[in-house]
Amino acid sequence: MSQLNPRQHEAMIHTQGPLLVLAGAGSGKTSVITQKIAHLIQACHIPAERITAMTFTNKAAREMKARVQKLIPSEKSRGLTVSTFHQFGLQFLRFELKNTPLKPNFSILDADDCKRLLMELMMRDNMSGAESRELVAKAIKMISDWKNDLVEPEAAAETLDDPEDLLFAHLYAMYERNLRAYNAVDFDDLIVMPVKILRENREVRDKWQNRIRYLLVDEYQDTNTAQYELIKLLVGVTARFTVVGDDDQSIYTWRGAKPENMALLKQDFPTLTVVKLEQNYRSTNRILSAANAVIANNQHIFDKALWSDKGHGEPIRVITCANDFDEAERVAKEILTHRLRHGNTWDKYAVLYRSNFQARSLEAQLRQLEIPYKMSGGTSFFARTEIKDVMGYLRIIINPDDDAAFLRVINTPKRGMGSATLEKLGLFAQECGTSLLAACTHSGLRAAVGNKAGNTLQDFGEFIDRYTQDLYDNSDPMPLVRQMIVETGYIDYIKEDSKNPQQEKGRLDNIEMLYSSISSLINRAEDDDDKTIDAVIRKLVLLDMLEQQQEEENTNKVNLMTLHAAKGLEFDYVYIIGCEENILPHHNAILTDNIEEERRLMYVGITRAKVELTLLLAKQRRSGSDYKTVSPSRFLDELPIEHINYPFHKGMAAQKDPKQVANDYLSNIQAMLAAKKG
Ligand code: ATP
Ligand code: MG
Repeated sequence: MSQLNPRQHEAMIHTQGPLLVLAGAGSGKTSVITQKIAHLIQACHIPAERITAMTFTNKAAREMKARVQKLIPSEKSRGLTVSTFHQFGLQFLRFELKNTPLKPNFSILDADDCKRLLMELMMRDNMSGAESRELVAKAIKMISDWKNDLVEPEAAAETLDDPEDLLFAHLYAMYERNLRAYNAVDFDDLIVMPVKILRENREVRDKWQNRIRYLLVDEYQDTNTAQYELIKLLVGVTARFTVVGDDDQSIYTWRGAKPENMALLKQDFPTLTVVKLEQNYRSTNRILSAANAVIANNQHIFDKALWSDKGHGEPIRVITCANDFDEAERVAKEILTHRLRHGNTWDKYAVLYRSNFQARSLEAQLRQLEIPYKMSGGTSFFARTEIKDVMGYLRIIINPDDDAAFLRVINTPKRGMGSATLEKLGLFAQECGTSLLAACTHSGLRAAVGNKAGNTLQDFGEFIDRYTQDLYDNSDPMPLVRQMIVETGYIDYIKEDSKNPQQEKGRLDNIEMLYSSISSLINRAEDDDDKTIDAVIRKLVLLDMLEQQQEEENTNKVNLMTLHAAKGLEFDYVYIIGCEENILPHHNAILTDNIEEERRLMYVGITRAKVELTLLLAKQRRSGSDYKTVSPSRFLDELPIEHINYPFHKGMAAQKDPKQVANDYLSNIQAMLAAKKG
């Protein structure tokens, strides 16, 4: 690890009062955090288990841990907490269970589960129909905003007069009630509940403030109100903490992040020391000039001037392609030839995009050219609806207490269980101290939910119990798994629910793929114990989790990810695709006039590159079965022209307006194509 520069060093040894490191991309903020952890352990002799470091993504947390492990021997870092805010919250809730409204084994609903729950609640209020789909998205956002701002349902209802907002406040109250009835939490609760407990319970607060001798937070600019409150409650008046951030990289305000939390720090902690860093250790100067030029178009709270001693570097390339297919092909071929020419490994390359859908054609091209790639944060195999559904059935087979799995499958396919019934079932299960599944076969069920629903639920409970028994008894469970899924009606449901034959085939193929993974896990298992359905499904669930965490075991692959997921990371060669209006900046941002956040996203993207940066755009983009003409991103206009190169444009005057150049180039292509056709 390199030597810290004097200012980084100052930040590292400042351990007494509160500290904010405010600095641009690649200036070594995360490095300060990791070095400081090592310093706290080795020089200040603070036991590792008394140090907590927090960040936003699993990937960033893993990377931070790995960086610390390189600095100090593993026995010294044992017990150190390096986690995401949400992981920390989860650990906290498990630890403080008796102070929460939760029972052991509470489940965590993911975004998909929450959406279903809200849909159910709206249907209960007779808000079905197309219009409610839109409403559901709005409601989810509104509820999440309230939660992240620490506004309780009653308080939410009080301040409103708009009928739609009042409706959301009403839904919020029902939603919370249902979560509690199901013994479940959503992601926001993982932060909000600990905050509530810490606020209200002095004993717990003292305990945690004592336990955490030092707190460090990376990417501080993305904290929301609840997260900031959590930080304040954990550090207390001793305020032993370091937070690092860059207001220009604040890209989560749409999810409630408050970059003004940076300014609030000074107010809440008057003894705050601020350290600024200006040397960038990541990128060439051309890349930095591009980043600085783009972000200069935003309003600034804190001015920063980045410089680097990495030399001028290669010009930034802007490549205009005929259409999105061509764009994907070009990136794939560029990477292929670049790698060959330079003898690089695949993992030095990253392709970044604004929205997940952009990855689709890219994936197809990479596969075709046999380029290994890994995708972070996309719709991975296990995140696909049909896989989650079938896995839901399998999860409940191996763990009858898995209430989240129960809720996932009870109405998939539809069994007419409304949310009112499920809430009653939840309350009943709570009274009996059992899981939702066990409550289905409980003698008091009908009294709790009524006869009709009782019959359906009992049938369902017995159905699952029967298959559980059979699957455990059988040495070759696979045919039974198939039979079970058919018998649930799920396969028929897929056939009815799919919009077209391709979609139906895709979904059925995915399920087949899941079946063959199960078979091959069974066949490959050496021990009989590993061949049981229980062992195999557990392994799959684990695989699922690993995949969600994007394990780094296969590191030598091209990185595909959204700009959001790329934050904090760095790659030698970066390709940003879809540099077009309505993609980057995003369509919604244009509508809501929130261009500055999109510009920060562009800034994040540009500053991921160490050696070379390539920006791509298409002239036309597929839209259904048609092609639509699109225009180059306004951010391309903001690039410093002297550092830009337009390959495939030999003889073109370098000083031309990039938009014009892009347009000219595309007109040429179109003319060529037209001539060919003619
Ligand atoms: P971002 O804003 O993108 O999160 P950052 O400020 O956290 O960036 P780091 O990721 O810590 O920056 O550092 C960027 C790169 O610079 C890393 O490769 C790191 O190893 C290197 N680096 C940091 N400090 C120094 C230093 N003093 N000397 C040499 N290299 C350094
Ligand atoms: Mg960082």
